[in-house]
Amino acid sequence: MNIAIYLDRIAQVHGERPALFLGREMVADYRGFRDLAARVATWLSAQGVGPGERVAIFMSNLPDYLIVQYGIWMAGAVAVPINAKLHGREAAWIIDNAGAAMVFASPGLSEALAEAGVVARILDVTGQDFAGVADCAPIAAAAERRAGDLAWLFYTSGTTGRPKGVMITHRMLREMALCYFVDVDQVSHADSALYAAPLSHGAGIYNIMHVMMGARHVFPPSGGFDEAEIFDLARHHGRVHMFAAPTMVKRMTQAAKVSGETGEGLRTIVYGGGPMYVADIVEAVDHFGEIFVQIYGQGECPMAISALSRAEVSDRAHPRWRARMASVGRAQSAVEVRIGDAEGRSLQAGEAGEIMVRGDTVMPGYWRNAQATAKTLVDGWLMTGDVGVMDADGYVTLHDRSKDMIISGGTNIYPREVEEALLTHPDVQDVSVVGRPHPEWGEDVVAFVVMRDGVTLDPGALDAHCLDNIARFKRPKDYFEVPDLPKNNYGKVLKTELRDRLKEMEND
Ligand code: AMP
Repeated sequence: MNIAIYLDRIAQVHGERPALFLGREMVADYRGFRDLAARVATWLSAQGVGPGERVAIFMSNLPDYLIVQYGIWMAGAVAVPINAKLHGREAAWIIDNAGAAMVFASPGLSEALAEAGVVARILDVTGQDFAGVADCAPIAAAAERRAGDLAWLFYTSGTTGRPKGVMITHRMLREMALCYFVDVDQVSHADSALYAAPLSHGAGIYNIMHVMMGARHVFPPSGGFDEAEIFDLARHHGRVHMFAAPTMVKRMTQAAKVSGETGEGLRTIVYGGGPMYVADIVEAVDHFGEIFVQIYGQGECPMAISALSRAEVSDRAHPRWRARMASVGRAQSAVEVRIGDAEGRSLQAGEAGEIMVRGDTVMPGYWRNAQATAKTLVDGWLMTGDVGVMDADGYVTLHDRSKDMIISGGTNIYPREVEEALLTHPDVQDVSVVGRPHPEWGEDVVAFVVMRDGVTLDPGALDAHCLDNIARFKRPKDYFEVPDLPKNNYGKVLKTELRDRLKEMEND
């Protein structure tokens, strides 16, 4: 089963439905979208790209992205999405590792690849090379593929080391999309998916359920994340769904509070990909209403480990609403989730251990990396590397990645708990807590803090706030004020960089 058949099917009966938009302007209806993708498929086949071969996409978020991605799938080939913010050399490494014969690139990005000495053929989507596509006849139907065949080769962002290629099959994508309807949200053809997060990541496969239902796909002309543009497009199109990293949600709330924006037209914001602090989601729900759903996933099980429903994100009547809101919800329908000890044995409710996942949305392994696969897939279970607990009702709460956990005087301290507490202080805008090597305690707790505009750091006040909210031994021993936190392209805080800063301070 080729995931592109959903585009074929919707175009057969609802070809006239609006499909692709650049801002407010329609670029193609479903017939046009399918037709363009099918021409790309013919063109690729004519260039000798056969089923199973890899074709990379190094493009910014524009409608061409989806046309190219579906064209690759229709040809039976494998799409290799590369974040457009990566350096040319980093992209070149991925293209080489994937063994991609070709790479579609946006203008500007194609030069970066050429400079990095990429051997694969580079196709500037606006250039001469690609002009012949329009003359190709569209292929009649998406190429035959088995559900277990590779569809998307996704390189994990990783905050350290070389990225690994996660093999994502057509089955995984289909199951992820079907779970969305059960566990996350309903979609109707009157809805619009707005792409403000990079399509090279989760947002790039979150189009599938919108294609299945014949909804609109809206690309902000800025090609990125701009709060005012999102509010404007949401108001214009209405019934907008979007995926947003927690930092984007926070920025949207702050911008809306300043401008008086109500978020009209925003129907659903699915957030995930990093920790959402309770104080931030409470503020977001207070401002925008019941529009938020949380998902927890990772490249190895994209968007599909657990979900916290719209009602649960908003419900404050339940006696344990705070704990639930701090959780990532319950297992999605395609998977089983359990918490394991160091040997992978199941732990009891409430005990902390590694989160393990098994099911149809879990990867079959890493691309050409048997060693890493064997470490990550154990007896059919995905070892997520995330530490967490599950309560008696099945709600999973993530602590921190094992390497981020602080061990001070033999006691485990989860930075997230300390961060949650500090974020409830009105002067704190953003915070990240890390461990600093300590001769006596092993590690002690240190906080990097971004203060709200116009206030300066008062360590005494923050310490008093911690004393009111968390155990004494978890309090940071030092606070450092920073203008902002180092984050990767997906908004995840780079704790390794903060730990390096501490080492440098030590050496000074
Ligand atoms: P990536 O593979 O780059 O998508 O990163 C996946 C990692 O992001 C997971 O293993 C978690 O550590 C983190 N993550 C994803 N979703 C959430 C969430 N809803 N809450 C907290 N952390 C999350």
